[in-house]
Amino acid sequence: MTFHSSELQMNAPVALAEVLELYAQKASKWKLFAGGTDLMVELHAGHCHQHQFLSLHRVRELRGIHVDEQFVTIGATSTYRDIVNNEVIANEFPNLHQAARWTGAVAIQSRGTLGGNIGNASPAADSPPALISYNSEIELASVRGRRWVRYSDFHTGYKTTCAASDEIITRVRIPRRKEKFVHFYKKVGPRKALAISKLSLAAAVRLENKVVCEVSLGFASLAPTVLKPVSIENDLLGVHLSVDSIKQLREKFQQTLRPITDVRSTAEYRATVAANLFEEFLKSLLSCCE
Ligand SMILES: Cc1cc2nc3c(=O)[nH]c(=O)nc-3n(C[C@H](O)[C@H](O)[C@H](O)COP(=O)(O)OP(=O)(O)OC[C@H]3O[C@@H](n4cnc5c(N)ncnc54)[C@H](O)[C@@H]3O)c2cc1C
Repeated sequence: MTFHSSELQMNAPVALAEVLELYAQKASKWKLFAGGTDLMVELHAGHCHQHQFLSLHRVRELRGIHVDEQFVTIGATSTYRDIVNNEVIANEFPNLHQAARWTGAVAIQSRGTLGGNIGNASPAADSPPALISYNSEIELASVRGRRWVRYSDFHTGYKTTCAASDEIITRVRIPRRKEKFVHFYKKVGPRKALAISKLSLAAAVRLENKVVCEVSLGFASLAPTVLKPVSIENDLLGVHLSVDSIKQLREKFQQTLRPITDVRSTAEYRATVAANLFEEFLKSLLSCCE
């Protein structure tokens, strides 16, 4: 199906194979269009210079959440509403559930998609830190085949990704875990709702007798991409949590920080808030043990 207006063209295939075929022929010509909640804003602001859109909206196999023993697998055009309504995600991956509840308001949650949030590649987006905290993987597909990449390897720089020019995001999968994890996600913004983050931290941690046995962290709005701070995770591994170790970890964390400055905040502000947020996260872990 193709829609035309005087300036815009929207092609809306039903089959994924057709999407991939068209995208492979003219990837530079087509702009993928999922929910359109980022793209419509860009179009109206005059920041989107592509006027030929390839809609994913009618491709049924791209939408839906599948749960098996190993993974929760989320189709790229699943909406925030789909995520909020999924019980397994609510119970096992509360950081992602929280991200979906934070995103926009009901209209955006009903239309905006997980694939669009990832594809837009904003360092301030809400789902990516949650996905990183759960060691998620992204499936990229093209006419050449499909491949899974670790989410933490997906973003390569400001608004750049490791996807080839003919690849689209088709699914996201999150490994399910049998052990008990502590989940933490906090977003700092100018107000409680409908706010783009000035900084946020998502974390999933496995503790045994106050010792950090497994940890995965995802920061938004700290660097040009959402960030998995591997060296900080390594510093945390094996640490026995106490008031003293938390103080030392905060100091070490503060020394490694190189935050960005952008329209929402300065690097100086972010350095202070990031250290406070990191300390709050560590204290919340300690309070879980008591
Ligand atoms: C009022 C308002 C409030 C918002 N609040 C938040 C918020 O709180 N938190 C937040 O994170 N975001 C927020 N957003 C941004 C936006 O809603 C999300 O990023 C949303 O997930 C985008 O999804 P979409 O399907 O609408 O993407 P689209 O607008 O359709 O696409 C976004 C980008 O991703 C690309 N893309 C889409 N699908 C794919 C795919 N499958 N593979 C590869 N590339 C793809 C598109 O080409 C485009 O570049 C808000 C937006 C608005 C307008």
